[in-house]
Amino acid sequence: MINPRDYFDVGIQFHGHKCPAMPLGLRAGAAAMNALGVERSQDKELVMVVETGDDHAAGCFVDGLMTVTGCTYGKSNIKKTYMGKMAFTLIDTKQQKAVRVQLKAEFFGKMLQSPFVLQRKQGVLPQDITANITDPLVEGVMNRAEEEFLAISPVFNYHFEKAKGTFDTDLCAVCGERVFVHKLQNVNNEKVCIPCAEKQNK
Ligand SMILES: [Zn+2]
Ligand SMILES: [Zn+2]
Repeated sequence: MINPRDYFDVGIQFHGHKCPAMPLGLRAGAAAMNALGVERSQDKELVMVVETGDDHAAGCFVDGLMTVTGCTYGKSNIKKTYMGKMAFTLIDTKQQKAVRVQLKAEFFGKMLQSPFVLQRKQGVLPQDITANITDPLVEGVMNRAEEEFLAISPVFNYHFEKAKGTFDTDLCAVCGERVFVHKLQNVNNEKVCIPCAEKQNK
């Protein structure tokens, strides 16, 4: 079982400030992992498709999800679909199973009226909001029963095909920089990188 508390400190450090939405990501990510019965992704065993965009609270939520699941932009095992929903699907690529989790509509609606968000609307930066406002909300998120704020789908089959990564590189004929081969373009029978190809096409 994954305990989101174990990832709280590293989550705050990684995220950069204390807020209620990063812990929401920790809780929701852990709930999805426990529904699937999986451990944190060491490499790309887990893949996550997140339906958020760039809206307020969404970025904080996704930082919590990345922290607890090990699905990271660096490893490219997370993708955003920009649907503007506080929801995601976590895929266990080994078992070919997945689960979709969303914040309950009423809960998220109420959260957007919290004193924390009211301060944010007045232009106060999250790191400048005082602990007497932030801490009770954060604790509320960490202690709340899952069924009060998360809608967790049944586990379902998910066909996932792993793309083959390449270790092959070559030099751009124009700038001489090393490039992964699948990104080299053929321009006048020479292999060139994308920026050099764009310059030659102008
Ligand atoms: Zn935040
Ligand atoms: Zn080049």
